[in-house]
Amino acid sequence: MGPPGVGKGTQSNRLAAAFAVPIVASGDMFREIRKQDTPLAAEVRQYMDRGEYVPDDLTIAMVLDRLRAPDTENGYVLDGFPRTVAQAEALDAAFDGTSRAIDHVILLKAPLETVLARLTGRRICSNCGAVYNLSSNPPEVEGQCDVCGGALFQRTDETPQVQRYRLGVFDRQTKPVIAYYKVKGRLEMVDATPPVDAVTEQLLNRVRGSADAK
Ligand code: ADP
Ligand code: AMP
Repeated sequence: MGPPGVGKGTQSNRLAAAFAVPIVASGDMFREIRKQDTPLAAEVRQYMDRGEYVPDDLTIAMVLDRLRAPDTENGYVLDGFPRTVAQAEALDAAFDGTSRAIDHVILLKAPLETVLARLTGRRICSNCGAVYNLSSNPPEVEGQCDVCGGALFQRTDETPQVQRYRLGVFDRQTKPVIAYYKVKGRLEMVDATPPVDAVTEQLLNRVRGSADAK
């Protein structure tokens, strides 16, 4: 969890690779859906382009359905879900007491100026989803992914106005989810200000530490 631009996608790619488990990223799933020529795609585009959350019923059905696939049986990394209390409750109701119950709820923290600076230079691979930044983590060849050679793109919800709006939506709709997990004593916080590798190390220490203890 964490505000837009804090580094969730970057770190979830690394965690998923380290544990050889799939990433379930609701934002990526919506970016796939919005490419289609369907009424659903048109609806999703409207919400995303305004920086608003897609309604809970649709989001919950999409993510829970994905999590029931066989490839998540031995673990998964969730990125960008749950973002509302209704989503968090639905996730718990669906999987608590099963092998798919979540082990860690990690909040990435960084100051507002840091996340705004990160959002401004973000570029994403259209093929494999690798995340770059024009100032902190540029690709070797401009516009091209180091991992797979795919073309890099800038998200359509990356204008300064929509970025600010998305940060406000996070405050209004996702801060209550942080409180939801805090009350349950499940919230873990990680400082996302250091460089990417240092943040990954903190995350791996937490997740590996608890896995060793089991
Ligand atoms: P989120 O998924 O939380 O919206 P991303 O993972 O897409 O955030 O990261 C936002 C931008 O910040 C990207 O351009 C990414 O390369 C950059 N970034 C992520 N983590 C760091 C970091 N620790 N230091 C510097 N830049 C980072
Ligand atoms: P992200 O890539 O995680 O920043 O998500 C991009 C956009 O997809 C968000 O601004 C929302 O419009 C939508 N979205 C992603 N995840 C969710 C979610 N869990 N609930 C509602 N909308 C979401």
